[in-house]
Amino acid sequence: MTEGAPATPWVAHVLTLFPEMFPGSLGLSLAGKALESGIWSLEAVDIRDFARDKHRSVDDTPAGGGPGMVMRADVMAAAIDAVHPGNGVKPLIYLSPRGAPLTQERVRALAEGPGVTLVCGRFEGLDERVIEARGMEEVSLGDFILSGGEPAALALLDAVVRLLPGVMGATASGEDESFEGGLLEYPHYTRPALFEGREIPAVLTSGDHAKVKAWRRAAAESLTKARRPDLWDKFLKDMTKDGRKTD
Ligand code: SAH
Repeated sequence: MTEGAPATPWVAHVLTLFPEMFPGSLGLSLAGKALESGIWSLEAVDIRDFARDKHRSVDDTPAGGGPGMVMRADVMAAAIDAVHPGNGVKPLIYLSPRGAPLTQERVRALAEGPGVTLVCGRFEGLDERVIEARGMEEVSLGDFILSGGEPAALALLDAVVRLLPGVMGATASGEDESFEGGLLEYPHYTRPALFEGREIPAVLTSGDHAKVKAWRRAAAESLTKARRPDLWDKFLKDMTKDGRKTD
């Protein structure tokens, strides 16, 4: 552990049939540096190590028939019990298209906790009984089907790790981001001043900070209204609730 790293790192365990997919993209850039410096730790646990038969099988045919294979409850439970304390302190999440869609709010709450244990499904997913028996929280990346939970686990961890103290250079850039204030972010511009006949909105180069702030706020609001009426409605409701102002 290098200087400046917390005494207790944020700890992630990932249960997977493809441990070689980790740390993957999380070994690079911001997350990779934070991993190296001990701000967080990652252990990919091979579910197959917990198989009980000589063929090391982790899946079987679905009860009731139908296509595909189902991951066995007993093997999955043994893998979970080997790494997850089960005292309710650390969340146990099964990445699943049936889960609650992941939000920035959930990501922030995870970052504030001690870590997470993530279960990546394959095939048709897990036997329902292990989901119930271990009280897993189901979390989805969105309304589409991945071939396995690993890319979802990588995405979730990426979103959490960037919020851990000491990971992002300028903390302010985290607070301004889409979703943080209930709105999508305003558009960004940089050099050159003229690109294929398109100029940067004049207010952004005016040097008038109050005007820039007002322009960004208005742009964020109109983008959110146009693209995400669901977020816009929630934003308006929350505003009335806490008496927030739109200025
Ligand atoms: N039969 C399941 C899909 C299984 S896909 C169904 O129709 O609901 C195989 C695995 O990929 C799942 O067990 C889950 O871990 C992962 N997965 C697929 N889509 C996902 C999504 N949108 N979010 C998170 N995990 C997903």
